Amino acid sequence: MPTYTAPTRDMKFLLHEVLELSRFETLDSFKEADADMIDAILEESAKFAQDVLTPLNRVGDEHGCVRNDDGSVTTPPGFHEAFDHMRENGWMGLAVDPQYGGQGLPGILGLACGEMTSSANMAFAMYPGLTGGAAKAISIGGSETQKNFYLPRMYAGEWTGTMNLTESHCGTDLGLLKTKAIPQADGSYKITGQKIFISAGEHGMSDNIIHLVLARIEDAPAGVKGISLFIVPKFKVDENGSTSETNGVSCGSIEKKMGIHGNSTCVMNYDDSVGELIGDENKGLRVMFVMMNEARLGVGMQGLCQSEVAYQNAVIYANDRLQGRSLTGPKNENGPADPIIVHPDVRRMLMDIRSFNEGGRAFLYWLALQEDLEKYSPDEKVRERADDFLGLMTPVIKGYLTDIGFANCVNAQQVYGGHGFIEEWGMSQFVRDARIAQIYEGANGIQALDLVGRKLARNGGRALMNISAEIDAFVAENEGNEAMKPFTDGLSNAKGKLQMGTMWLMQNGMSNPDNAGAGSVDYMHMLGITMLSYMWARMAKVALTKIEAGDDDPFYTDKLITGKYFMARIVPNIDAHLAKLQSGAEPVMALAADRF
Ligand SMILES: Cc1cc2nc3c(=O)[nH]c(=O)nc-3n(C[C@H](O)[C@H](O)[C@H](O)COP(=O)(O)OP(=O)(O)OC[C@H]3O[C@@H](n4cnc5c(N)ncnc54)[C@H](O)[C@@H]3O)c2cc1C
Repeated sequence: MPTYTAPTRDMKFLLHEVLELSRFETLDSFKEADADMIDAILEESAKFAQDVLTPLNRVGDEHGCVRNDDGSVTTPPGFHEAFDHMRENGWMGLAVDPQYGGQGLPGILGLACGEMTSSANMAFAMYPGLTGGAAKAISIGGSETQKNFYLPRMYAGEWTGTMNLTESHCGTDLGLLKTKAIPQADGSYKITGQKIFISAGEHGMSDNIIHLVLARIEDAPAGVKGISLFIVPKFKVDENGSTSETNGVSCGSIEKKMGIHGNSTCVMNYDDSVGELIGDENKGLRVMFVMMNEARLGVGMQGLCQSEVAYQNAVIYANDRLQGRSLTGPKNENGPADPIIVHPDVRRMLMDIRSFNEGGRAFLYWLALQEDLEKYSPDEKVRERADDFLGLMTPVIKGYLTDIGFANCVNAQQVYGGHGFIEEWGMSQFVRDARIAQIYEGANGIQALDLVGRKLARNGGRALMNISAEIDAFVAENEGNEAMKPFTDGLSNAKGKLQMGTMWLMQNGMSNPDNAGAGSVDYMHMLGITMLSYMWARMAKVALTKIEAGDDDPFYTDKLITGKYFMARIVPNIDAHLAKLQSGAEPVMALAADRF
């Protein structure tokens, strides 16, 4: 049975020593969150993830969700109780607005707790995750009445939420959507249509499910300019929030799918269902996109989470499994063979994953901090800078962390040899679960296009210029520091190649947009590698400072070793990405469509 131990030591290192959250103690949500409180919350969250959610991960995979004849959906054994536990202990309201019943703690802390939940049980974590997404959309676009009515119940976990965008003929291209909304005399709308692939669409874990549905009001303009967003509850509610009458909302079927079996992925039918408009007519996508930008951090995190839990189990196996002898002589002389962790190729796989996980976590937390700064800083310049970083880096977090996170799960499975292919060992589930994160919330190819087509050039490229200047300043500050040289050299190399890639895109992407399209995923990975290099350099600086001050915690030496591995073995991938980017559209587009 696979295990999971929450990496709280690494989390505390990032929150307290690298990002130094205590610097922000005067900001609203940080006032309450001193180091002791943060640590206590992390430890409690770790217990919940390890003791309650981890054992249910396999259960969820094996049992899946079942749609009953009456249209209800039964979730895997134990999920309901785990959800009750989550609700009763206030986990869903941790980092949301106190005005609506939340605890108002920093988003970065909520994200760290979410990491544990999602590593322990990704399918389960999606029920509260989707609720958070739906509540976010209401908080962005809803009226004060809607916020007061829905948010406290959703933050308390009494009601859950979903996001309904996809229809059978429209996924990426939402302009094609057909679900109809017909205005009623009382100001409400009747919603009719079918949505597919709706995560957490039906289940019995909450008193009501608040579906956020994209639909087209009668006579609205065609395409994306005619899409509105509606709140459509599973049960109609009176002004006190009491629920009884059904609302024409039903689950037509649930999908049989590759992974995340414990999450109900539903075909949802809306049949004259009463809906409330959020925001203005035909402006629904605007609200949805702001919300989705945040949700993408959560999906990027899912890639990291599966990579982390797969790594932890691969390490246990590599220490346990005896096969062959070390190339440099036996390391387990009294045993029949050495543990496979002695073999450099097994080490390569483990170090690839480890160096990504720790660097990726730093990148993710750094961006979550930008979100808090954008929300809470009184300084307009700080808010602007943080907002720029969020815009530029969100597609990278989503695309890069899930692409590499999935590849890492495959590598961790490889460490198990044939046993990795056998369900009993659990590695197959990590691979299967991780795969969806590359696809939903905007497929990764679309993230890359968003990056090179929109985000890079926003505000005259200000975000990239700012992060480049920050990196240059860091490198200059550490010039002459021999111990930092492997890190600053690796970082300068990555940043230099990224700059060449950016220049190439500027010179060639406008004249032929296919040049940008063909190289967009490579560019997204280049920015990902550069950001992880920067994070590693910053982590190395902290570790070296500790070691120089006499701290002999091996955690710090391990950090340096892992960071040097990243610089030596992962950063060179950026050269391959640059070469592919610079080869342009020609090799990709030359073959005629009918010759495939
Ligand atoms: C398990 C699961 C859960 C999901 N949960 C939800 C949910 O809760 N709510 C919801 O609304 N949806 C959900 N989805 C739907 C998901 O978001 C979509 O599947 C996804 O957005 C892709 O849409 P699509 O499947 O129609 O693929 P398509 O849009 O048909 O794309 C197919 C391929 O073509 C590429 N492509 C498409 N257009 C372009 C372009 N212009 N340029 C370059 N490449 C392009 C894409 O990158 C992709 O690789 C879920 C899906 C699954 C499988």
